[in-house]
Amino acid sequence: MSQIVVTLPDGSELDVEAGSSVEDVAYEIGPGLGSDTIAGIVDGELTDKDEPLYEDCELVIVTEQSEEYLQVLRHSAAHIFAQALQRLHPDAKLTIGPPTDEGFYYDVTGVELSESDFEALESEMEAIIDADYEIERVERSRDEALELYADNEYKREILETEAADEETVSFYVQNDWQDLCRGPHVDSTGEVGAVKLLSIAAAYWRGDEDNDTLTRVYGTAFESEADLEAYLDRREQAKERDHRKLGRELDLFSIPDVTGPGLPLYHPNGKAILRELEAFVDGLNDAQDYDFVETPHLFRTELWKQSGHYENYVDDMFLLDVNDEEYGLKPMNCPGHATIFQQGSWSYRDLPIRYAENGKVYRKEQRGELSGLSRVWAFTIDDGHLFVQPESIEREVNVVMDQINAVLETFDLDYDVALATRPEKSVGSDGIWEQAESQLRDVLEASGMDYDVEAGDGAFYGPKIDFSFRDALGRNWDGPTVQLDFNMPERFDLSYTGEDNEEHQPVMIHRALYGSYERFFMVLIEHFDGNFPTWLAPEQVRILPVSDDNIGYAKQLKNRYLGDFRVEIEDRSWTVGKKIQTAHDDRVPYMLVVGDNEEEAGTVSVRDRFEEEAKDVGIETFRAHLEGEVDEKRIEPDFVE
Ligand SMILES: [Zn+2]
Ligand SMILES: [Zn+2]
Repeated sequence: MSQIVVTLPDGSELDVEAGSSVEDVAYEIGPGLGSDTIAGIVDGELTDKDEPLYEDCELVIVTEQSEEYLQVLRHSAAHIFAQALQRLHPDAKLTIGPPTDEGFYYDVTGVELSESDFEALESEMEAIIDADYEIERVERSRDEALELYADNEYKREILETEAADEETVSFYVQNDWQDLCRGPHVDSTGEVGAVKLLSIAAAYWRGDEDNDTLTRVYGTAFESEADLEAYLDRREQAKERDHRKLGRELDLFSIPDVTGPGLPLYHPNGKAILRELEAFVDGLNDAQDYDFVETPHLFRTELWKQSGHYENYVDDMFLLDVNDEEYGLKPMNCPGHATIFQQGSWSYRDLPIRYAENGKVYRKEQRGELSGLSRVWAFTIDDGHLFVQPESIEREVNVVMDQINAVLETFDLDYDVALATRPEKSVGSDGIWEQAESQLRDVLEASGMDYDVEAGDGAFYGPKIDFSFRDALGRNWDGPTVQLDFNMPERFDLSYTGEDNEEHQPVMIHRALYGSYERFFMVLIEHFDGNFPTWLAPEQVRILPVSDDNIGYAKQLKNRYLGDFRVEIEDRSWTVGKKIQTAHDDRVPYMLVVGDNEEEAGTVSVRDRFEEEAKDVGIETFRAHLEGEVDEKRIEPDFVE
């Protein structure tokens, strides 16, 4: 028998017989680990514990303590759902049913389902869990599998494409039910502690709009009821703060059918916030000597061919024919900026050149993937492109990191940082990659931030630093990025004259502080639950006259003292109680209640959105506070302590 070398997570190596299973290796490491083994991760891929290993590989043993365990358990829950479905609806056809970050889904057809079917399905799932059926992996020949799926064209398609070269395929069997599946799974249905079906949506077979429409049933599963309850609580909170719901209630934006999918309209309230966000990053860019540029939304596809986007992105691009010539809406701002640089002639003394643009881009995502502001067809990037000498990458990236820090601190968002390094396929010399990666590392080390290294996850054209935001509900969202690029300068033949009088190629740095405005706006809406910091709030102050007699005084306050702020007067003839309630619902940071007493004394009563109140406040005192709060971009209204 030949031997293979298995490398374990601690770097140690183990010689085992070729053909040993994941579980065999675990037993070699220790009998305790052997009996705890649920699955393995072989060269990064989750596999069954019975999977035989024939080649040298890296192996992680998955036990109940592993992060991946929940994924395995949820895949088993998807099977339990499918078994329950076919018990209640024998005509239901199964297609695919993978685990997801939040649970699992199964795409099915041949059955009409609505959420009113969930109760019956869930109790059938409970019965399957209570029966604690053993989950067994069985290898069958591909021909036998094709026969089993004689009337399921979807499973047959899988067998005839992905599995076309396999002699045998694996099934997972529980009781009298089975599914074509790579696994892995838990040992028995009873190990799934708690399940819940969540929603139904339409999906296309293989995600392609030209294919059949299927019914996607989403569910989730946990080890215990308590974990499930905690998840459902968080989900309820997330629903309450859903940016689509708050966007409607606070009149921030809309995405009506008539204007097209994924094409958001910003209403005055939403645009008020966007203008502040734009002004903030424009200010950060001004402070770092960026030059502002502007490029159109449409270019000849010649440009996209030169940049390489046409080759790689054409399916995601909106193309149009103009007088027999092909044009494309821009999916990225970079080629426009590279072309501006290309028009000049530069010496090393001119570098770095820094271009900034709040540039709108268009990407044709699958319609089924579009969702509120998180996935759209049209969005704006707070884009910036730097053209730098290779030796000054570190200095320039440091400057960008200072800008990113300013954003993170201002919004008080937690974040994660990752350095993504050279992938197997890449352009650029070893020398430039080493130089660039070591400079990025130095920046991160000097910053004192904790960061992960995602080895091999860089783009083919350069390494990058990616930030992701963590919002108030603990969810992660793509955030700022700093991306080095050795490819586009080559494609656009960019150069500068060096100190040696020779022509050199600059490195291009793509960077965004927010990422996309749409995504960032969505994060802010949900993170703050619509309670925007005062500097961002579309309406910062609402003056509430106690009676119509006090409207004149309210106007005087607004015009004479608060002209620099976004102030409204509530002049509807309502009770003060109703006026206060409405201002609360609209999440206005400050309310100034003014009646006869205040008018006589020349004061105001200040209420904030936490229902705290301060009476007899001089208007100058309030104005000075407001100015400080807005200038310093403080997170919460803090006049009434
Ligand atoms: Zn499966
Ligand atoms: Zn770019």
